[in-house]
Amino acid sequence: MRAINFGAGPAMLPEEVLQKAKEELLDWHGSGMSVMEMSHRGKEFISIAENAEKTLRRVLKISQEYKVLFLQGGATLQFSVVPINLLRGKRNADYVHTGVWAEAAIKEAKRLCKVNIAASSQDRGSTYIPKQSEWKSSKDSAYLHYTANETINGTEFGFIPESEIPLVSDMSSNLLSRELEVKKFGLIYGGAQKNMGIAGLTIVIIREDLLSGAPENTPIMLDYKTHAEKESMHNTPPCFSWYISGLYFEWIVKIGLKEIEKRNSRKADILYKAIDTSEGFYKNPIEKDSRSRMNVIFHLKNGNLEDMFSEEAKKAGLAGLKGHRSVGGMRTSLYNAVTEEHVKKLASFMEEFQEKNS
Ligand SMILES: *Cc1c(COP(=O)(O)O)cnc(C)c1O
Repeated sequence: MRAINFGAGPAMLPEEVLQKAKEELLDWHGSGMSVMEMSHRGKEFISIAENAEKTLRRVLKISQEYKVLFLQGGATLQFSVVPINLLRGKRNADYVHTGVWAEAAIKEAKRLCKVNIAASSQDRGSTYIPKQSEWKSSKDSAYLHYTANETINGTEFGFIPESEIPLVSDMSSNLLSRELEVKKFGLIYGGAQKNMGIAGLTIVIIREDLLSGAPENTPIMLDYKTHAEKESMHNTPPCFSWYISGLYFEWIVKIGLKEIEKRNSRKADILYKAIDTSEGFYKNPIEKDSRSRMNVIFHLKNGNLEDMFSEEAKKAGLAGLKGHRSVGGMRTSLYNAVTEEHVKKLASFMEEFQEKNS
């Protein structure tokens, strides 16, 4: 029996994706090989790779002005690769500090440039998204970076920032969870293991004019131009992860991204309602307009019950509810593969747990 997995990543996959991968596991389309075994330069894998890109372009309506790169190293490597490529001779970059992941990006950028914190929510423990009217951008910054969804802190941008300089976003935990106007961005990046695949693959969507900004001495693997010119096959790409994302994109096309977005909103509503109507038994610390639809964090009023909560939940088939070690409490990740039924089960469990323990 499969657990209902609310883990933050690697995360639950749609069962249809797993089934399809299982059917094709030993012999992909009559090739006599698993995708794991084939040459990345052979026509079979090239067709898998091209189809995945085509499908992603279709889902997000990505124009030809943008390159889509299929890379390795996670979002974490992009924390460094973004400044290396996008500074283009400038010394400053603007960052919005909204929590743990923004901070990780800032820390890496600081090795390479002067970071101007355009806005920060640190004054109130990363519990809100600062309104853009209060941001202080610096004039000579090369780009503006923000973290669209703070996976650990449980906040999410409900808007796309306006920016005159290239807008860069870490969308590791909400890319493909909602419709998106790609043309507002210079660069979008994210690991696949939350909403669109498995670990090992990092997607970068980059506007073409930003491809050639890396300095001369940049290691070849850290230069976007290398990957753009070689269709992300300068070296062996993460073939199997790329293939799984292709299946995931097709699953999204079948449902439609608009419908996925609606489902994700309804899922979050169910859970926040369960928290908000618990008369303080459960508490979510995030300001209402900044609440993440993807990662819903909550605490129990009686913190001593939290271990019991996650243990009993696990016995009931509800896995992955423990909060990140840095913030404690509970965290429920409602990525694309989690269904409304799953969330309703969790809400009922919470209600029963409250009745038994208050
Ligand atoms: C998970 C996550 C990361 C880290 O991703 P890796 O693929 O492990 O490097 C970075 N940013 C955000 C917002 C994330 O959710």
